[in-house]
Amino acid sequence: FAPWTDPAAKPLIRFKNVTKRFGTFTAIEELTLDIYEREFFALLGPSGCGKTTMMRMLAGFEDPTEGSIELAGEDIVKVPPNQRAVNMMFQSYALFPHLTVRDNIAFGLKRERKPRDEVDARVEEMLRLVQLQPFASRKPHQISGGQRQRVALARSLAKAPKLLLLDEPLGALDKKLREETQFELMDIQEKTGTTFVIVTHDQEEAMTVASRIAVMKDGALMQVATPSQIYENPNSRYVAGFIGDVTILEGKATKLGDAYEVRWAEGQPPLRAKSTLDLADGAECQLAIRPEKVEIHGEKPSDDNVLQGKVIDIGYLGNISTYHVELANGQIIRAQNFNTERDTRRAFTWDDNVWVNWTENCAVLLDH
Ligand code: ATP
Repeated sequence: FAPWTDPAAKPLIRFKNVTKRFGTFTAIEELTLDIYEREFFALLGPSGCGKTTMMRMLAGFEDPTEGSIELAGEDIVKVPPNQRAVNMMFQSYALFPHLTVRDNIAFGLKRERKPRDEVDARVEEMLRLVQLQPFASRKPHQISGGQRQRVALARSLAKAPKLLLLDEPLGALDKKLREETQFELMDIQEKTGTTFVIVTHDQEEAMTVASRIAVMKDGALMQVATPSQIYENPNSRYVAGFIGDVTILEGKATKLGDAYEVRWAEGQPPLRAKSTLDLADGAECQLAIRPEKVEIHGEKPSDDNVLQGKVIDIGYLGNISTYHVELANGQIIRAQNFNTERDTRRAFTWDDNVWVNWTENCAVLLDH
C-alpha cells in the first residue's frame, strides 16, 4: 500500500500552494501536499506550526487566503463544512451526556432524516465495528474513557465520510490504553477504508499509526514520508531531531571513494558516512546518529568510526539501557543497548572507559 509512489494514483486531498494568513501573520505558507485514499496520514510538528489550521481548512472552518484545496478532484474551498464529505473527531469527544451510546452514534444520521431501519442498521454496524454492542444502552458516564473514545469514533464514521480528521484523538487516555487504542484505530481505519488525517503531539503515536507523516515547521512542510523513511533518512537536522533520539555532530565533508569522510573535531578521528548527497569538498555538514546504531565496547574494536569516551549517564528502561558517553572534547554520544541477557554482559557503569562505534551506513549525512 503506497499510492504516493504511483504516478497514476489520484490523490483524495490536494493542497495546492495554500497560504493562510491571520491578519499580517502567516500561519501556512505556499503549502502543497497530496494525501491519498485509504491513507492514515499524520501531521506532526511543534506547537504553533500550523497543524490545527490545516485540519480546520480541510473541515471548512477556515478558508485559505491563497491557493486551493481539492477533495476527490473537487475544489472544496467554497463548500460549507456540513456539505463536505469530511468529519472531525475532537479530543473532548463532545458526546451528548443524556443520550445513550446508540443514540449518540445515531445522532447525525437521524438529523439527515434517513429512514429508521436504515439508521438502525448503520448504527448496529458501527457498534459492531467498535465492539460496543454490549454497551449500546449505556450513557457516556457509564462507560470507560477508552469506550467513550470508541463511541466518538463510531459517531464520526456513521455517515461514511471520505475523510476523517482526528485532533489528538487519544490525548485523554493513559499511556497503556493509548497504545492499545492506536492498534484499534488502525484496525478500524483499515476496515472502513476511510482516509484518516491525525494531529498528534505524540511522535511515537504518529510513527505507529501513520502510513505517512508530514513534519511541519513554521507553516511549511519539512518532510513528507513514511515513518521509517522519516526515522532512517531524515532530510534535515530539524526532522532528525524531531523524531526519536539522535546525536548530531557538525563537521566538514570530503568525498572518499563511495562515502564521505567527515572531520568534525580537533583531536577526534574523522568519521565515515555513506550518502547520496552531492557535497562539495569541505562543505559544512552534520552527521545524525541514532543511539541504537551505536555499539559500546569495553575494549577498543578494530573497526572504523571508533570514538573513545567515558560513561556519564545511564538510563535503564528494562528492555533497553541508554548511555551517554562523553568524549575528551566534551561531545556526548548517545548509545542504546538492548538488555537481552539476564546477566547483561554488555552492561556498563558510570565512569567506565568505553569505545563507541557504528558502521558507515548507519550515520545519516545532512547538509542543513
Ligand atoms: P498546537 O499544537 O499548539 O495546537 P498548531 O500546530 O495546531 O499548534 P495552529 O493552531 O494551526 O498551530 O496555529 C498556527 C499559528 O497560527 C499559531 O501561531 C497561531 O497563533 C496562529 N493562529 C491560529 N489561529 C489564529 C487566529 N484565528 N487568529 C490569529 N492567529 C491564529
